[in-house]
Amino acid sequence: MTLLVDYCPGCGTIFQKNLRNLCTSCASQMDRQLNSCLDHLWTRPRSTTNELQQATGVALTQLHDFIKSGRLSASSYSNLTYPCESCGQDTRSGRLCHSCLGVFREAGKATAPVPVRQVMVKTASKTMYTSRNR
Ligand SMILES: [Zn+2]
Ligand SMILES: [Zn+2]
Repeated sequence: MTLLVDYCPGCGTIFQKNLRNLCTSCASQMDRQLNSCLDHLWTRPRSTTNELQQATGVALTQLHDFIKSGRLSASSYSNLTYPCESCGQDTRSGRLCHSCLGVFREAGKATAPVPVRQVMVKTASKTMYTSRNR
């Protein structure tokens, strides 16, 4: 049997690898944090992420993680948000807010013909290169 060990991303100590990728003390600390969030949301389901942070003392980035991973359900608690990965605006699903999703979709349409032009440029410079070599 091989023992897989790794550095814990939470505290940096070496631990035996497991499904959660955290050492047992970080994993149980995270469980405690998650439980105190759920306790708070039980009484105040309309808390925002900031209110939750103040009430539980859990770091905002950790809360964002909980919401993104679905451990704190953004659909059950309607005021829980995390920042969009592009503009930092509050969002509640996916990695990007609605406006960024729209922008990226538009950009995708606009840049679609570009690869064709790039291929043409490449072919032209290659022709120049070979003719110079001759
Ligand atoms: Zn740890
Ligand atoms: Zn955005």
